[in-house]
Amino acid sequence: MYDIIIVGGGTAGLSAAIYGVRSGKSVLILEKAAYGGQIINSPEVENYPGIKKISGVEFARGLYDQAISLGAEFENGQVIRVEDSDDYKRVYVAGNGEQERCYEARSVILATGVKNRPLGVDREQELIGAGVSYCATCDGMFFRGREVAVVGGGNTALEDAIFLSNYCSKVYVIHRRDKFRGEDSQLQILKQKNNVEFILNSVVVGLKAQGVLEAVELQDTVTGEKTELPVSGLFVAIGKISDNDNFDNLVKLDETGYIHAAEDCKTDVAGIFAAGDCRTKNVRQLATAAADGAVAALAACEYTDRIVNTQG
Ligand code: NDP
Repeated sequence: MYDIIIVGGGTAGLSAAIYGVRSGKSVLILEKAAYGGQIINSPEVENYPGIKKISGVEFARGLYDQAISLGAEFENGQVIRVEDSDDYKRVYVAGNGEQERCYEARSVILATGVKNRPLGVDREQELIGAGVSYCATCDGMFFRGREVAVVGGGNTALEDAIFLSNYCSKVYVIHRRDKFRGEDSQLQILKQKNNVEFILNSVVVGLKAQGVLEAVELQDTVTGEKTELPVSGLFVAIGKISDNDNFDNLVKLDETGYIHAAEDCKTDVAGIFAAGDCRTKNVRQLATAAADGAVAALAACEYTDRIVNTQG
C-alpha cells in the first residue's frame, strides 16, 4: 500500500512526487510514456522562474532525477481505471496482452496532462510517422533540407517553426487567422528568417500521400479557394485537449473533459486530487503545473495522515 500514487510523470506529477517523498510518504509514479510530459517537446524553456534558459528535456531530466533520488518510485504503465474503496484506492494498469496490474494507495493524484488536438482531416492518423507529426523537436531532424509546414498560431507553432527553420529548406506557417496567438517576440524572430513563409487565413482540409506525405490541401477561410502545397512534413501544433476518458466514472469532469478541481486540487472524491493541465484552470504553464504538484501532494499528505490516524 503506497501513501500516494501519482498518475502521470510530467511536470505536475514529478513535482508532486518531490513534495510527497519530502513529507515522508511512499510515492509511486505511473507513466504511460517517457517521463517529462509535454515539456520534453519544447526546445527551449525561458519562462520558468529562476532558470534563465534550459531545454525541455534537460528540465524534465532534472525533475525526474530529483524525485527518484529523494525516494519516489517510477513505473511505466497506462492507468486504465481507479477504484475508490473509501480508505484506499485501487489503481489498475493495462496488461498489454498480459494480466492487468493493480496497485493500492491511500490517495491518488491524477496528473494526466493533455494530449495533442488532431486536425481531424482524412488520413491524418494513417500518416503519423509518414509525414505528419505533433512534435517538431522529436521528428524535425527527419526533414533536414526538406520543405515542411507547421499548422497553428500559438506559441507551440511559432517555436516549432523557429526550430524547424534551422534544419529545413523551407517552413510554411499555416494559420487560420491573420493574427497570431503566440508571443510577438517569437513572431519577430520568424519574420527575420528568409526560409519562412506565412500562409494566413488558411486551414488544412486534406492530405495528399502515396505512402508518405506529398502535399497538403489548403482552403482560404476568406475566399474559400482551395490550393495545394507540396511539403514532406506537416507539424500539427493547434493546441491540446483533455485526456481523462479513463476517469470519467471516478471524478467529475467538465464538458470538455477536464477534471473539476479548484486551486486546492481537490476533486469531488475524497483522497483523489488533480494536478496540472488535466484539471479545470485558466493558465496552463510549466510554473502552474509545478505549483499544482506541490499543492496536490501536500493535500494528499494531509489526507493520508488523517486516514492513518483514523484507522488507529
Ligand atoms: P494554443 O491554444 O495557445 O494555440 C493553438 C493554436 O491553434 C491557435 O492559434 C488556434 O487558432 C489554432 N487552432 C486551434 N484549433 C485549430 C484547428 N482546428 N485548426 C486550425 N487551427 C487551430 O496552443 P499552444 O499549444 O500553442 O500553447 C498552449 C499553451 O502553452 C499556451 O498557453 C502557450 O502560451 C503555452 N506555451 C508556452 C511556451 C513557452 O512559453 N515557451 C511554448 C509553447 C506553449 P486561434 O488563434 O484562431 O484560436
